[in-house]
Formats: sequence, C-alpha cells, structure tokens
Amino acid sequence: MRHILRRYITRDPTGRPIAVQSERLTDDGEGRLQLDNERKVHRCSGCRRPVLELSESRGVCGWCFSRECCVHCVSRCQVCSRQLCGHCRQGFGGPPAVTVCAVCRQRLITREAIEDQLTMEQTEFDRHIAQQRLVYQFEALRLAEGRLQQAARFQEARLGIGRRTKLQWAMHLLGLIVVNLFKGLKYVIRRALP
Ligand SMILES: [Zn+2]
Ligand SMILES: [Zn+2]
Ligand SMILES: [Zn+2]
Repeated sequence: MRHILRRYITRDPTGRPIAVQSERLTDDGEGRLQLDNERKVHRCSGCRRPVLELSESRGVCGWCFSRECCVHCVSRCQVCSRQLCGHCRQGFGGPPAVTVCAVCRQRLITREAIEDQLTMEQTEFDRHIAQQRLVYQFEALRLAEGRLQQAARFQEARLGIGRRTKLQWAMHLLGLIVVNLFKGLKYVIRRALP
C-alpha cells in the first residue's frame, strides 16, 4: 500500500494559506488505484466566511492586527483610512454619521463637545450683546426725551421773556401817550388862562 499526496496551497499576499487542495493517490498493492480530492477552504477570521479566492482577502485589520478582513466584512475608518475588521469598526453618530476606529471616534466626540461648548458661549455672548444694545437704546431714548423737555423749557422761557418785552413796549407807549396828553392839557390850560 502506497500513498502519493499532492498539495496545492494558495496563499494571500502575507503568506497565509487561504486554500489547500490535496490529491491523494492510493495504491493498495493489488493494482487498484484510488484518487481522493480534498479541498480545505480557509475562512476569514474576521467574519468566518470562506475565502474562496485570493482576491477576496483584504489582509489583517489595521487596528487589532489579529483578525483578517475579507471583501465581505472589511471597512475603513472615514477619518484615518485604516482598514478595520468587523470587531474593531465603530460608529460615530454624527452629524455626519461615519464609520471610524476607536481613536478617531474618541477624537470626534471630544471635538463635538468643544464645538458644543463654543456654540453655547457664542449664544451667551450674542444674548449679552443684544441685551446691552437694548440698554443703550433705552438710555439714548431717555436722553433724547430729556433734551426735548429741556428745549421745550428754554422755548417757553424765551417766549415768556418776549411777552414781557411786548408788555414793556405797551407800557412805554402808554406812558408816551399819557405824557403827551398832559403836555397838550397843560398847553390848552395855559392858553385858557388869562
Ligand atoms: Zn480588528
Ligand atoms: Zn471577513
Ligand atoms: Zn481612524
């Protein structure tokens, strides 16, 4: 009894066998030959799917470096572009929602928190500015009203003085009339006297 074993091994670019095909030829010593074909298929360690073709393999995960990726389960971090297996990929809720690795996810969360903080501070600042503007507008209105009232008081006072002057003029004229009347009366009386 003799065995002849022939093996065909297909390897991925890193040297790992992804498919083993073996042919076993058995001679039982009595002229009977038997040929067995056996094909062992490598499975993707990331998703357990059989990797039938060399082209379906995508190499090891760029995060854990322990599991493989195949065409069915591979994904990439949308931030640092590293290749990720199904166990290592994480999601970031966004916006925008992206597939990321653990490090990038943490960075995105931190950045989001900082942005939220900045937005909150900006909103607070804007509200403060709007409030100050209202205060200034109110103050300006109050000053304008005060100036108007003052102007009105000046005008009133000026008109008051003007009235007094007219009264004085009237008094003066009246005085002149009275004086002339007396002069006339004196003249008439002197002429009437002997
Ligand atoms: Zn991984
Ligand atoms: Zn896979
Ligand atoms: Zn990343």
